[in-house]
Amino acid sequence: MDKNLEVIPLIPLRGVTIFPYMVLHFDVGREKSKLALEEAMINGQKVFLSSQKEYVVEEPNKEDIFETGTICTIKQMLKLPENTIRVLVEGEKRGILKEYLEEKPFFKVKIEVIEDSKDVDDNCKALIRLVVKKFHEYMNLSGDNGSESIIELDDMDNPGRLADTISAYLEVDQNKKQQILDACKIEDRLEKILSILANEIEILKIENKIGIEVKNNIDKNQKDYYLREQLKIIQNELGEDDRNKKEIKKYKEKILKRKLPKQVKEKAIYELDRLKNCGDYSTESGIIKTYLDWILDLPWNVKTKDNLNIKNVRNVLEKEHYGLKDVKDRIIEYLAVKNVSKSLKGPILCLVGPPGVGKTSIAKSIAKALNRNFVRMSLGGIRDEAEIRGHRRTYVGSIPGRIIYGIKEAKSNNPLFLLDEIDKMGLDFKGNPADALLEVLDSEQNNTFRDHYIELDFDLSNVLFITTANTLDTIPMPLIDRMEIIQVSGYTSEEKFHICKNYLIPRQLKENGIKDDKIKFSDAAIYTVIDNYTRESGVRNLERKIASIIRKSITEIIEKNKQKIFVNVTKAKSYLGSDMFTYDKADMEDRVGVVMGMAWTAYGGDTLPIEAAIMPGKGRLELTGQLGDVMKESAKAGYSYVRANCKKYSGIEKDFYKNYDLHIHVPEGAIPKDGPSAGVTMITAMVSALSKKKVKHNVAMTGEITLTGRVLPIGGLKEKSLAAYRAGIDTIIIPKDNEKDLKKIPKDVKSKVNYILADNIDTVLKNALMN
Ligand code: ADP
Repeated sequence: MDKNLEVIPLIPLRGVTIFPYMVLHFDVGREKSKLALEEAMINGQKVFLSSQKEYVVEEPNKEDIFETGTICTIKQMLKLPENTIRVLVEGEKRGILKEYLEEKPFFKVKIEVIEDSKDVDDNCKALIRLVVKKFHEYMNLSGDNGSESIIELDDMDNPGRLADTISAYLEVDQNKKQQILDACKIEDRLEKILSILANEIEILKIENKIGIEVKNNIDKNQKDYYLREQLKIIQNELGEDDRNKKEIKKYKEKILKRKLPKQVKEKAIYELDRLKNCGDYSTESGIIKTYLDWILDLPWNVKTKDNLNIKNVRNVLEKEHYGLKDVKDRIIEYLAVKNVSKSLKGPILCLVGPPGVGKTSIAKSIAKALNRNFVRMSLGGIRDEAEIRGHRRTYVGSIPGRIIYGIKEAKSNNPLFLLDEIDKMGLDFKGNPADALLEVLDSEQNNTFRDHYIELDFDLSNVLFITTANTLDTIPMPLIDRMEIIQVSGYTSEEKFHICKNYLIPRQLKENGIKDDKIKFSDAAIYTVIDNYTRESGVRNLERKIASIIRKSITEIIEKNKQKIFVNVTKAKSYLGSDMFTYDKADMEDRVGVVMGMAWTAYGGDTLPIEAAIMPGKGRLELTGQLGDVMKESAKAGYSYVRANCKKYSGIEKDFYKNYDLHIHVPEGAIPKDGPSAGVTMITAMVSALSKKKVKHNVAMTGEITLTGRVLPIGGLKEKSLAAYRAGIDTIIIPKDNEKDLKKIPKDVKSKVNYILADNIDTVLKNALMN
């Protein structure tokens, strides 16, 4: 017989596959198999074990049995009850069934024995390494850490054995195992194993992941539940559980008690339900409570009743403020219209003027006169839209915007809302606050103002908005359009005197708790404080100085045991010290090249002397001193005008620019000035310097100039006039187009100053230069 062929009995296996080197026990019950077993025991204990293709077949034919199987040695037999035998076998070698020699009474078959090759080439080595690596991974994933001990060292040199050993440990279905067994070539076998391992590893990974998630979920829920139960017990012990319940009850009562609009009530109840369902100490509960506090505290339906008695209102306004006629009249008008049509929406007034002229305090008086609550909000420095409209509640620490904040402070839905410093709002990447403000101020939209935090519409249409600004220049045009601008300009010394004597001094005396007959001021002392100790358009510093004098007087009354104090000029000076302001005074004589201009600053008007000088050179124009960009442009335009028109003015050399340089200087002042109103002053100084004609010392001027010599109108005439008047000027040249502004000039100034209207530079020069 051929060396590679063997004749041995066959036992078909049901549901298992045996590999060489594998030890297996199985129970034998079928008669045919028992007979095969007996035969084997007699003849060398060898048996061919091969699996049935179908597990269920009771009496398999040769077609039902796989051809590849394993030649095994029987190691042990054990008789079990019910006529079955338990057999322990060890796989020896692969065999391929070549021929069924007998089928009855048992299967006797001819087998070709397969010997594994011992040659290991590089390809095979690589496969071995991969298989081993994957096998360890597979075992680890299936939770078995003993894979190291399964593979012995010399398995590495015997790849056939290695493959079969590993195969025995794979928990895969019988078909796959049979495929491995069918692979007689070692490479094929290893590749098959590798592909099965890779597939199984993926499946195991997914299984594990699902397993971990499920487990985590269960763990976290259990942990939370456990902690909550503990917390409940602790809170019970501390009596805090009651407190939380009480808190929720309190909110509920509040919701029911407050007369809330339907949408607000619904929202509040919704949030309260959320509060009940979240942990008492969770961040969420804190956020909900803050929100509930906000919406419950807003004056949704609280309204104060307006005082519509015009006489009364006028009295209050007059009593508390001197002047400010435009503002007072506008408020009275508003009331008059409101008396007729009850549904009037609040106008939006914008009071524009320098600091300290009473913008804020007149607004307060208006609120008092109308019997409205007053609230003030500064918009200075706001850059982010959210400051107006609030942050969404998704942000940690979010709050409503300033409008809703103010409404809450006001405690009524129709307050007088003062928006201060509307000209100081900024812009940045987080949106434009001015746009948000537009919506607030727009009477068409503001009855449904929606704050991002509150998330409910609030009706702002009953609010009386008043805004203040120092200048209109930096307010966006759409905002200006929406408001009614009322200019509140600075005060003259006389006006300040009245305000001081009749309002500031009595108020300060009252605030310091002293009777008004104890401290008296002489008129001259008041003027001294105004003219020498303050430099402002308004009266804020004046009020401070007065307060300081009153405090010092009270100290003196007490220390020196005096009955009363009379504050005259000397006393005022001794109290306030020697830090006095001095003003530019008009020159006492006429000079060449020196002209008095006028400027407007945020602090009011000021004089602006400009000097021009010529020197030998090549037509350069030199500019020095306090000149901003606008003034530099004016100087250049002026210079071009003079060059183009030099023939017109007697005394100017025709080719002056070939032989001379011109130097313009603006001496330093306390406050930098810049603006389009110095054109005429520059030209006058240049023409005077070039023609050597003197400029009248008692003349001041303001106006911008075009290249053709037209004089353009300027702003701030009242402030400028006051400054010139203060400096001792008696003739002021102004642009003709500013004639309409003359009616705003205080009478006492107008009676002492001669105004000259100029529509072109020739008129200016004719009146300013000496012949
Ligand atoms: P503004 O808001 O324009 O900067 P304030 O309203 O703060 O100025 O005014 C500063 C102080 O000057 C306040 O105490 C105010 O009462 C007082 N004041 C300003 N103008 C007048 C005035 N016309 N009559 C009475 N007091 C005035």
